Order: sequence, then C-alpha cells, then structure tokens
Amino acid sequence: MSTAATDPVNRGAATTLVSGDVRRHNLAIVTRFLVSNGPSSRSQISDGTGLTRGTVTALAAALTDAGIVRESGPIVNGTKGRPLTLLKLAADDMALLALQLDADQATALVVSLAGETLFRHTEQHGRPMGRPDVVLDVAARVLKAGLDATAALQRRIADLTVVVFAPVGGEPAQVLADTDLGWDTVDVIGGLRARNPDLPPTVRLSPDASVAALAEHSKLTGVRDMLYLKSNSGIGGALIVAGRLVEGAHGFAGALGHLPIDHDGALCLCGQHGCLVTVAGPDVVLAAAGLGENLERDGLTAALTELTRRIRAGEKRATAAWDDAAVWVARALQILTISFDPEVIVLGGYWADLVEPVRRAFVRNHPTIAGARLWTDPQVMPGQLGDDAALLGTVWIARDRLLEDPLNIAI
Ligand SMILES: [Zn+2]
Repeated sequence: MSTAATDPVNRGAATTLVSGDVRRHNLAIVTRFLVSNGPSSRSQISDGTGLTRGTVTALAAALTDAGIVRESGPIVNGTKGRPLTLLKLAADDMALLALQLDADQATALVVSLAGETLFRHTEQHGRPMGRPDVVLDVAARVLKAGLDATAALQRRIADLTVVVFAPVGGEPAQVLADTDLGWDTVDVIGGLRARNPDLPPTVRLSPDASVAALAEHSKLTGVRDMLYLKSNSGIGGALIVAGRLVEGAHGFAGALGHLPIDHDGALCLCGQHGCLVTVAGPDVVLAAAGLGENLERDGLTAALTELTRRIRAGEKRATAAWDDAAVWVARALQILTISFDPEVIVLGGYWADLVEPVRRAFVRNHPTIAGARLWTDPQVMPGQLGDDAALLGTVWIARDRLLEDPLNIAI
C-alpha cells in the first residue's frame, strides 16, 4: 500500500474526488483497527496503521461526530503516568441481522458491529417438500423475532442479509432452484417482505456455501485458491480463485452437489443423472446408515449429529455408509482439483468431522505422468467454523461492507 493511500496529510495537492476516496479509505482503516484491537489510544492507532497522529485525530473526530466511535477513559498510562483517552467502537444503536434458511430450520442471529451476539433464535420448519410458502411462514416468524429483539434493544438494523441453502441469481435476487426442498425459482425476499411489510428497504440474499467459504477462507493465512465443499442441507460448494469467489455467468458456479459424477446414476431433481447429491447427499447417507427414521422423526440436523456420533464410535453400518459416500466425494474432489488446482480443500458442514475417509480416497488416486506425480496434492482439511460458518460469514461480510464506508452506515 502506498504512503499516499494511507496518509492524505502528506499527499499535497490532491483532487477533491481522490481526497474523498482516500479519506473514506482512512476512516475504514481506523474503524477496522478498533474492531480488530479493541479500545485504543490515538497514538496506538497511529502506530498500528501508519497514519500520522494528526490524521488519526481528524478521522477520530469525524467518527465520533457520527456516533461510530466514542471516547472512554481517561485511564492512567502505566509507563508514563499520563492520563490516556481511549477510542472505542460505539455504534451502540446499530445491529447486523442475519437470517439463515436451510433444509431443516430457520435461524435469526443479531450481532453488534463489534461481533457480540445480541440475539439468536431457531425454529424447525419440518421440511415440507415443494411448499415454499410453509417454509417462508416459519422463516418470517423467526425473522420477526430478530427484528423485535433488535427493536427491544433500541438498535437499528445496519444490515439485513438472508442466507439460503441454494444458488442465488437474478434481479432482484431469488433462489434459483433447490432440490433439498423441491423448490423451483422462489422469491424469498419478496415472500418475507409480504409477511413482514416493515422490513428495511435493502435486504440481501446470499447462498450459504459462498459466505461459509469466505468465512473459512478468512481463517487461512496466505491461501489464494481454495475449494470448499460442504454437506448439511444437501451438498454445496464454492470456488475461491486468487482470493475471490467465483460466481459464474448465472450464479451457479460452485453448486457442486450437482456435479454429475455417476454416469448411469439416478435421475436428480435438477434433471441430470448421477449428481453428487444422489450418491453422497445427506438423505442417501442417512438411509444407508439406517437412520431414515431418525431423519423423519428428529429432522435433518439431529439425524446428521447422530450419524456423526455413530461413525466416530465405529458403528459398522454408519461407517460403511460414510466410507461408500466418501469415495464419491473424493472423486468429485479429484475432478475439481484437475479443473482449477486449489492449494487447499476445505470440507464443511457435518463432513468437517469426517474428513479422513475422504482424504484417504482422494490421495489414493493421484494424477501421474510417466510414473511421476504431476503436482503436490492439495491439503484436504476440515472447516474451522462448524455449523455456524455461513452465519458468521454473513455477518462478517456485512460488517466489512459497512466499515468500507463508516460514515454512511445505514440501509
Ligand atoms: Zn442434480
């Protein structure tokens, strides 16, 4: 980063437009520093960011006036004995709201700008196949609980994002299709707005695998090319190339559950034969493991927890079911690895606890030329964020988006 970009004081006669951009950039640097480091003095911010003291003082004044930052203290500086005033992220009147809708349940999460969880509520929707209205009724109720809780905390919503278990596209954004609930195109935001007319004007819609992948990617240092594949609601995935999410021409890039992997396989609801989800999807693995009744009775999340418990305990039927599925997952990884050569493969959802059989099957089948290895195998590793990867990714992305332009935090 150039000096000019980080310190407008030293830039000389810049144009007004560039100065404005640089100032916004510097405001974002200060707020991000406070998010990462907690309450800090002006000199700590200056030392940590490379901005001059004078610049930090001017930026802090603008952020304080806008209610984004607040002074706390003074406290006594232990080494020099002088009183020290700390700046802290205020924004006490703001909240980020994420609503996650998957094939089993709807969850509302409300967090502060600093990442503190303020409210969380989940309801199961019973997975009524092909009936989006029933699912949206439950989602709208959960969303309303989140909106009411935010209002009761006397906060306003600075970002509201709905994260769904399916590919998203179109304008306005809609769920394009989902086989786990038997959905065709569904206008989720429109359906929620019809049920909650007082929603904020801007509501974003994101596919869960994409935001989960970005959250997992943010936990890895120095990784540019990452393949993410997860299973809970069906199978989803995402490709991150050169640090950026690949969306594709129609938003379908990374819909890896529909990688047509078994040439003579069963017809998938997407219209292809032998998709990965037809041979390694959660319903298939649960049925093979003898957990079909648990799925019916307890719902998908509880059934997958029981499946994972049985596999880790070495129960024969569950282990055999997963070993069979893992071979298909590994084959998918093989195809994707030769397609875009990732450094790291991250397995998320319930697969994060069951990586080893996939890794074994994956490394058994190296690409070779004249007996020599073509490359070093990418590392196959579990996701670090558990079931909350998509929710965390959603609020982290929302926070980053807001901090890009901290004086305009409003929707
Ligand atoms: Zn399919």
